[in-house]
Amino acid sequence: MTVATEIISISCPTCGGSECIVPSGNILDNLYTLYMACNSCPPDPKLKKDAPLKIIEGEGYDNTQCNNCGARHLDIVMAEALAVMVKHGCRSKEAHLFDVGTPLIAIGCPLAFAPRLKTDDLILIADNIDQTVAEKLIDIPEIKGVIKRVGTPTQSVGILDTDSEPHTYKLLAGCDVRCDVVASSFGELCIYKSQSKIHIEFGRESPAKMQVLERLYVQGHLTGETVVDGFCGPGTLGLMCVLAGAEHVILNDAWRTAIENTLINIEANKDILEVELEKFVDTSTLPDIGDEPIHVAQAKGDGVVIDVFHGDFRKLLNVKEVDGFDICLIDTYPSVDATGFARHDMTGRMIII
Ligand SMILES: [Zn+2]
Ligand SMILES: [Zn+2]
Repeated sequence: MTVATEIISISCPTCGGSECIVPSGNILDNLYTLYMACNSCPPDPKLKKDAPLKIIEGEGYDNTQCNNCGARHLDIVMAEALAVMVKHGCRSKEAHLFDVGTPLIAIGCPLAFAPRLKTDDLILIADNIDQTVAEKLIDIPEIKGVIKRVGTPTQSVGILDTDSEPHTYKLLAGCDVRCDVVASSFGELCIYKSQSKIHIEFGRESPAKMQVLERLYVQGHLTGETVVDGFCGPGTLGLMCVLAGAEHVILNDAWRTAIENTLINIEANKDILEVELEKFVDTSTLPDIGDEPIHVAQAKGDGVVIDVFHGDFRKLLNVKEVDGFDICLIDTYPSVDATGFARHDMTGRMIII
């Protein structure tokens, strides 16, 4: 990543390194210049995305790093990745830049320009790729990790329900941890994700969910209230409710990776949330899919408590901390009928997101 990393206390759940997760303040302070060209960066190479490699290479563009900031244009990095894939036979000579895969920048935020990338700024999700090629790809300095897509692009990563088999992608090389900057009228958070095991959000998905929260906030349903985020994933909605002034937020997910990411996100955003986290359980001892809810951690601040549970949402009512909430957010995958959960015998108001 390209941000300052001086106050490190969180090690990466995938690679164990100390540079994958940095306090969100470090990111947000530099966000809007992070992927911008500097004054010395060469202009946009305007590579054809729908032409074979030999046509692209025939145009003779400059593929060196900027001699001032060290960055390269996204398309140049993708062209180099395509060249590696063609050389090792996992893409045909006729393949285009579009065929390389899905590039995810390490710190996801809406950009009005093509990003300029530095070391470890890109995680690539690719179909039809093996480990040998993936290991060659991470020799490209900008590529931090290579993930093999399993199933179709529309199949969500994670678990649909506690009874279903988890659907995960496969990390072939490097590290899969990156973050998305989530923005709302209450403020911004950096939400880290182990991207081979956690749902990938694209386009309008996150802004649409924030609009639901903003509507609840305006209606007075968040400030001073107890909010349950029943399928919390990496903690996005529940932690945003803390910023909206909720007094007690209960985060629950049955997927262990989601809970591990949630704890990282409380730590990484603790200065913004103004809380201190206390862990009760070593998450590595938890099963992949939880059943009876286990109280994993609690974070406390001035006038706010965050409780984190690993377990089956339908059993969460048995837990004493969940006795008497005001609102429950149900954010399941689009393919899951959330009304089944909403009908469950719980008091308080259910909001299906
Ligand atoms: Zn890592
Ligand atoms: Zn530059």
